[in-house]
Amino acid sequence: MYARRNMEIVKTVAELKTLVAAFKDEKKTIGLVPTMGALHRGHASLVSRSVKENEVTVVSVFVNPTQFNDKNDLANYPRTLEADCQLLEGLGATVVFAPTPEEIYPEPDTRSFSYPPTDTVMEGAFRPGHFNGVCQIVSKLFMYVEPDRGYFGEKDFQQIAVIRRMAEDLKFGLEIVSCPIVREEDGLALSSRNTLLTADERQIAPAIYKALKESVAFSKTHTVEETKQMVVETINAVEGLEVQYYEIVDAKTLASITDWNMAEHVQGCITVFCGKTPIRLIDNINYK
Ligand code: AMP
Repeated sequence: MYARRNMEIVKTVAELKTLVAAFKDEKKTIGLVPTMGALHRGHASLVSRSVKENEVTVVSVFVNPTQFNDKNDLANYPRTLEADCQLLEGLGATVVFAPTPEEIYPEPDTRSFSYPPTDTVMEGAFRPGHFNGVCQIVSKLFMYVEPDRGYFGEKDFQQIAVIRRMAEDLKFGLEIVSCPIVREEDGLALSSRNTLLTADERQIAPAIYKALKESVAFSKTHTVEETKQMVVETINAVEGLEVQYYEIVDAKTLASITDWNMAEHVQGCITVFCGKTPIRLIDNINYK
């Protein structure tokens, strides 16, 4: 454990729990921001919000192996801990928790989580086991830190719905705070994976959000099915982009809707393959 001005960087659960116990003794409120590192302005917005709303902010930086179902994706995931810590210190984070996989999983995690339909549709269908891995790591972090608030980005819209269900189910008793998507000027949602895009791929990627945005006006005079089709066709018409799925869903349950009146809040969730590698990009938009 060593200090950088006011920020501690810890690698073990024991060190983390010692710090947390001291904060709890002092009755300090704690915000937790789970991340996989390679931090950008999207992550920074979560951290800044937590720093504003809590006396202590714990940021975890951990590329969680159990949520990857593709070995190459895990191996190629960007890792930039030194730069991440510099950014976090500037934002006013209190603790960075950056463990090794062995520290988190000394034994394989055999727990399984199931919150249908939130974890079975969309990402749950195309990345089997993904949300189980997310619940494994996030539940461990909630147990170690016992935060008052947990901060999550709407970029991973489905992930928030799954985590809300898990937090309710296991009675973690914290507030789940959802934070708006931070975008580049051209509309592309910030993502750690964007650094893996070639210059050409980076140029075509903003077409995803452009189509989503245009579809909101389109949806006022068209059915759910027509709107879905418009988005898929517009994006697939761009060479180098291929839609994996586009679903228009009840924002709370994530169940697909067939009529705009079927849900109070409606979200469109998309995954697109970009380029030859390809890089998998996700995004979403609110209809009502
Ligand atoms: P990750 O490091 O990709 O696991 O992301 C950590 C947290 O940051 C998750 O809650 C994400 O939803 C959130 N996040 C990632 N990108 C963005 C973004 N562009 N805007 C807002 N939040 C984001």
